[in-house]
Amino acid sequence: MGGTAVNYIVFDLEWNQGESPKEQELTGLPFEIVEIGAVRLDVERRVTGQFTRLIRPQVYHKMHRYTEELIHLSMEELERDGELFPDVVTEFLDWCGEDPVFCTWGTLDLTELQRNMEYYGMEPLTEGRPLPFLDVQKLFSLAFEDGKSRRSLTHAIEQQGIEADQPFHRALSDAVYTARLLQRISPRLLRNISFDAHVTPQDAAHEVHIVFDTYAKFISRTFETRDELLGDQEVMSTKCYLCHHNIRRKVKWFTPNNGRYYLAVANCDRHGFVKYKLRIRSTEDGGFYAVKTAKFIDEAFYEDLRRLRRTSPRPRGRKNS
Ligand SMILES: [Zn+2]
Repeated sequence: MGGTAVNYIVFDLEWNQGESPKEQELTGLPFEIVEIGAVRLDVERRVTGQFTRLIRPQVYHKMHRYTEELIHLSMEELERDGELFPDVVTEFLDWCGEDPVFCTWGTLDLTELQRNMEYYGMEPLTEGRPLPFLDVQKLFSLAFEDGKSRRSLTHAIEQQGIEADQPFHRALSDAVYTARLLQRISPRLLRNISFDAHVTPQDAAHEVHIVFDTYAKFISRTFETRDELLGDQEVMSTKCYLCHHNIRRKVKWFTPNNGRYYLAVANCDRHGFVKYKLRIRSTEDGGFYAVKTAKFIDEAFYEDLRRLRRTSPRPRGRKNS
């Protein structure tokens, strides 16, 4: 991301779904997008355009009760005024411009957009690597709350004293609200990009290494099994993300919670103790990839983790390295 032609594309989707998980599985498209709304902002975050389209459903021809209650759209309206998804998305991407930075409230929309595009055999938004985007819900929390909480859009609008002059849960109005919130985030925080992992890194060259203000993040390539992942040198490496040296492990990898995540601590002579946290995630096609974060900690926290490792059960049948 970066460059001069940056457009922030704040978008929001509304979708419909099948009656049952079984129906969703049969169709191969659990959530069918029925509306796209978006606001385009320039590099100074001034609004330069709006986009709104209804989509004529091709998969589900009955409104799910949740959808109808939530988004106030009727099937009649969609069938009458909607256009076909591939046409709408082609137009949308064209409208986004050359170097779009997608921004959404939360983490779901970009994944659903890509799933729907895949369903229609459209060209993917990204090849072999996760798509960077700005999660405005996360940025809002970093800017105005504790950085960890995830609030609803309605809450955020109210908290910021933004006039709720449009209905919620329609794509364009939610995009407008999200854009107004984005405008209030300090530019410094915009470096906290997120990655949509609908497409995971296909090989080592596409792995993600990124350093933020207070931590670093690594997203590994995809492995067939968890064991293969846990045996990978790069995944299990403990480097200092400031000087890039492999540094001595002070607390070996362990899991305090049966593999929900793994922890380790290493010590850099120049920069101090680094805590590593490794989570294993599943890909959509049954593979595995790792998300590893590294963060500097003080000596007291290091001692806590050392104790935690001693009291954590050792994984059976695995040699700790
Ligand atoms: Zn260092």
